[in-house]
Amino acid sequence: PPVGPSVSNHPPPRPLVVLDPGHGGKDPGAVGFSGTYEKHVALAVAQELKRELEASGRYRVEMTRTSDVFIPLEHRVDYAQARGAALFVSMHADALSDHGTRGASVYTLAATASDAQTAQLAQRENSADRFADPRFRALPPAVTQILASLVRRETRIGSVHLARDLVGQLHRDLPMLPNPARHAGFVVLKAADIPSVLVEMGFMSNPEDEAALRRPDHRARVAAAMRRAVDAYFAASDHVTHMAV
Ligand code: ZN
Repeated sequence: PPVGPSVSNHPPPRPLVVLDPGHGGKDPGAVGFSGTYEKHVALAVAQELKRELEASGRYRVEMTRTSDVFIPLEHRVDYAQARGAALFVSMHADALSDHGTRGASVYTLAATASDAQTAQLAQRENSADRFADPRFRALPPAVTQILASLVRRETRIGSVHLARDLVGQLHRDLPMLPNPARHAGFVVLKAADIPSVLVEMGFMSNPEDEAALRRPDHRARVAAAMRRAVDAYFAASDHVTHMAV
């Protein structure tokens, strides 16, 4: 059968943004000087950001958790993939050994993953049933591998664009870590087909960051900055159609 974009009279569905409040349940995350739990801060900002994004009318928003429950990292990625998320944003406020360090920072998946990780990614991405689209299912494996490689590349580009937008918007209103766009091998960023970032909104190990993140007005500023970054990401048309290979 011919491979090409399907024609439809329906407007495209609003993109799904999956928010991932870090930790939860038996895992409190970092604990601040005044006893603030990272898991509570992460959930509070995620709920605020969900309200902001939904109020714009442009997005659908789901959260990997909406209460104080423990969810394994892999399940968070699976959750986003099962729902066909357009973006995945993990939200944290961890601790550093240096209590003087403060500010927000944004993480994308490290380009130099370990060999085991790279092998795992390749295995997942080369599998034809990673693509629910029937256009892909009918294709020979070699073509599917090429498409998977294109999707992976577009995902990487999308993640970097979103991270850049987040740093730019957070920087307007919040103290930032030096070199705030960073890379690491976070498990929750390993979806091959969903641009994914992890935001450290500040550090529980820093008394000023902790005090700020306890305040609703500060959390609202963080959420507003992140909403502006999501708007900027989708306003740039070069990566929103990344699945239309
Ligand atoms: Zn965390």
